[in-house]
Amino acid sequence: ATPTSVVVGTGKAAEMGVLFRKGEAVQTLGEARVVALDKTGTLTQGKPMLTDLQVLPGFEETEVLRLMASLEQNSEHPLARAIVAAAQERGLELLETVSLEALPGLGVRGQVGIYRVEVGSSRLMAELGIEIPSLPAEEQLAEEGKTPLYAGVNGQLAALLAVADPLKEGSVEAVRALHRQGLQVAMITGDNRHTAQALARQLGIDTVLAEVLPQGKAEAVRQLQGQGRKVVFVGDGINDAPALAQADLGIAMGKGTDVALETAEVVLISGDLRGIPNAVALSRATLRNIQ
Ligand code: ADP
Ligand code: MG
Repeated sequence: ATPTSVVVGTGKAAEMGVLFRKGEAVQTLGEARVVALDKTGTLTQGKPMLTDLQVLPGFEETEVLRLMASLEQNSEHPLARAIVAAAQERGLELLETVSLEALPGLGVRGQVGIYRVEVGSSRLMAELGIEIPSLPAEEQLAEEGKTPLYAGVNGQLAALLAVADPLKEGSVEAVRALHRQGLQVAMITGDNRHTAQALARQLGIDTVLAEVLPQGKAEAVRQLQGQGRKVVFVGDGINDAPALAQADLGIAMGKGTDVALETAEVVLISGDLRGIPNAVALSRATLRNIQ
């Protein structure tokens, strides 16, 4: 039988937009030591915008953007949507993509008309053997908290671009409250290390696990679980499901993907992260009532 105080506690949490799908989750949350959060769509709004586009000599900005957007129109990734939106704003007509391959955590490549096009991280370019002449330009963008990306056309570097995804309202406050509750707060992301660190500084997050490939997110949670510490993972994407499952407690964003919602024990209905410290306080109070 579920103790009355758990029912009361989860009822109060629901009023604050935090849905406990299992009574046991109250105990786990009350005992948790670490809260690890996905970045895109969890700490940030998940609505990135193209902010910078520098094409290399010999390439034409409009044409490079057209090729990138033509390729990305077939991708579900938030970064892809930012590139497509930028092309549409300029009224560019997109071309048909002949083939498309997504390289999870790295980017996309494919054939657009007669061109081979690739868009993604410096790591993707390295894997495809495309040489990048100057890394400082990329680091400069990342220091501003933007995600730097490269585009390659027919095996040649064509552009350096950056996409910015603003922090969600309430993220800074939520992190501060979790710290006051004595919890360690960590960010786990596939994004560029410098970008992640810049955002972590803005958020006051001390532990950053960046450039984590999708299959590595569960392993990152396992790392944080060292010494028997209970870890909560908060995420929204398909990529996050293994980490949500690995964590002692999974929290999904209400607007997240179905897979994330199905895997998590707790759902933040509106995606407002301030619900987490509130739920921690309630869970701890509930545990005190039971003991
Ligand atoms: P996260 O969801 O943690 O932000 P992902 O694993 O989805 O990380 O992506 C990690 C990195 O892979 C991105 O920062 C970007 O560099 C690259 N990437 C992934 N998908 C795309 C895409 N469709 N277009 C361009 N780059 C991409
Ligand atoms: Mg996400």
